[in-house]
Amino acid sequence: MSSSTTAFDLAKCPACRQENLSRADHFKFRDFDGSLFNMEVDFGLCGHCGFVRALVPFGDEQISDHYANHSLYGSLGGVGVGGSTREDILRYEQYLYLLDTIVQKSGSIADVGCSSGGFLSYLRHVIGYEGKLTGIDVDMRALSSLKDIHTVNGNALNLNLQKDAVDLAFYTHVFEHILDIDRAVSEMTRVISDGGYAFIEVPDATGYSVSRVHDYYWIGMKEHVNHFTPKSLSSLLHRHGVKVQKIIRRTFPMKGGVFYPSLIVLAKICNKPETNPLSMEPMGSHWFLEHMDSEQNFFAKTKHNLKSFLRGRKSLLIWGIGLEFFNLLALEVLQINASTILLDSNAAKQTQTVSGCHILDPSKLPFNEAMLCTSSLSWRQITQHAGSLGFDENNIFCL
Ligand SMILES: [Zn+2]
Repeated sequence: MSSSTTAFDLAKCPACRQENLSRADHFKFRDFDGSLFNMEVDFGLCGHCGFVRALVPFGDEQISDHYANHSLYGSLGGVGVGGSTREDILRYEQYLYLLDTIVQKSGSIADVGCSSGGFLSYLRHVIGYEGKLTGIDVDMRALSSLKDIHTVNGNALNLNLQKDAVDLAFYTHVFEHILDIDRAVSEMTRVISDGGYAFIEVPDATGYSVSRVHDYYWIGMKEHVNHFTPKSLSSLLHRHGVKVQKIIRRTFPMKGGVFYPSLIVLAKICNKPETNPLSMEPMGSHWFLEHMDSEQNFFAKTKHNLKSFLRGRKSLLIWGIGLEFFNLLALEVLQINASTILLDSNAAKQTQTVSGCHILDPSKLPFNEAMLCTSSLSWRQITQHAGSLGFDENNIFCL
């Protein structure tokens, strides 16, 4: 166990430093066998800025090792994995709209945590940006797919760039993954030139209930050790003398017609410290307590429906081995036994196991039994695919 987490445990809020975190809500996470994220955590809440920290039993080094060597991000299609799907392109267009002329005025742009580099490829090949582009990630497997773009093996805590090396740095879906966020902001201000900009995007925790996908979906994102409110992200930046120029809260589409709540901060790096920070009222941690109460009610309904479906069934196929599946496993409404079959069409997942159970390629297995579809984003494709393999639709239960 690392001591770096216990250093934060119930200490001052890592975002605003105004109050000690208070402990709330024990939560269990499950993941593929061998993953760092098979864990039970408490959440630490800040009553001033509303920041929530998952008090995880490991430190930033183990998290970085996970992304470098074990994460499936390079082979996934979700938000923040550096892809080039229709939804990704729509999001990139919006980023540029929000930045107005800042991109074209920047001589050097870095994407921190770029994964497969979809955004950098978009800047180079769709927008025709001619300045220097640098993609930074710890996952060399993902970086290897980037062509014609300079890549650096580094992370937000150690960017491996010279001082003042870039004029604009993108941190999209990075800050929610880091424990030592003070060090990340210090490193950010070191590498961005005076007068340069940081574009930071994280999930907007205050939008979790409005943009709900399934039970405990946003809180169940086990890689997210931080849950930011607008107040907490701007407080973190203010403490480092960074000027917050714009705070944008909106939703962006994901696969399957669902939306994620986005919080974007455009910040200007100035050698002269910020003297007149944007003032925001304290917001408290009610959002979290109310959200968890509401999820508990939704989960009670899921549990009831699922129990009815599972009653009397001896064997079960589960298709869609992702967040919703792992939450149901952690909440113990699903069990894996000798007659459980796990299916997912993602080849990277087919190399993994859960409780010793292998994940199989559905195309190779023409079963016609009861099937539980556990994906909220891909249920249409899964049920169509299952239909083409001969499954009776009356035997399919979708979450
Ligand atoms: Zn706080």
